[in-house]
Amino acid sequence: MRSRLSPREPRLMKNLLLDLISLSDLKLLQPYLRPAYFKQHHVLFEADEKIRHVYFPAGGVVSLIITLSTGEMVEAAMVGMDGVVGASAALDGKVSLSRGVIQLPGEIIVCDIDALKTAALQSPKLLSLLIRHEQTVYAQAQQSAACFATHQVEARLCRWLLRARDLSASDNLPFTQEYLAEMLGVRRTSVTVVAHTLQAAGMIKYSRGKIQVLNSEALQDSACECYAAVRAHYERLVGAPPAGVPDRPTAEEAPKVPYAELEK
Ligand SMILES: [Zn+2]
Repeated sequence: MRSRLSPREPRLMKNLLLDLISLSDLKLLQPYLRPAYFKQHHVLFEADEKIRHVYFPAGGVVSLIITLSTGEMVEAAMVGMDGVVGASAALDGKVSLSRGVIQLPGEIIVCDIDALKTAALQSPKLLSLLIRHEQTVYAQAQQSAACFATHQVEARLCRWLLRARDLSASDNLPFTQEYLAEMLGVRRTSVTVVAHTLQAAGMIKYSRGKIQVLNSEALQDSACECYAAVRAHYERLVGAPPAGVPDRPTAEEAPKVPYAELEK
């Protein structure tokens, strides 16, 4: 097993939230932080399930998904290097309200759930940061509901690709059309038509199971207002959101220590 992280090890800088935690608070958490590599589509936890860990993505990206009894699912929020997954469960209840799935593979720093709660109860600053971050996730979920009800598939797909690009710091996104259709809650044929349109306009290059963002500015022009709204909520509550510039270490470069090894 890999050694635990020390405070302010450069690796931690890949998660903006850990970067905002004071050094004294980080020292409380340090013995309980462990980096691991997660594969795409790995399920971190199911809805209504007790969870034992919280997750600070540092390259990997997590989808929070609401599933219905019919098997349909809709993505409520996407969390990557800008946040933490499971913090509200850590603060109270330990139960997740949604399913957490790895949307883009990569490194995530795993923290013991009790350690985060203990540290937060000792530090009003840390508690405030976690609560403000949870508000950004709530705001994302509200935005997603409004987006789903009112915005066109093309604008929603543009928004979604930009968000995934920001959080993974990569122009290369390994998504199949089936997966995109599932996340957006639309038919696959709708995604096919829209992906073709975006490719014809030179915004993306689409090949089997892979999307490359070619022109992010044009994607922003075609995205619905929800992309900018989510960034604005984050900036107001937490701080500057991820720049969306793929100049940081990407998921492909992250060390590949499988999550299963942490459990041993
Ligand atoms: Zn929208």
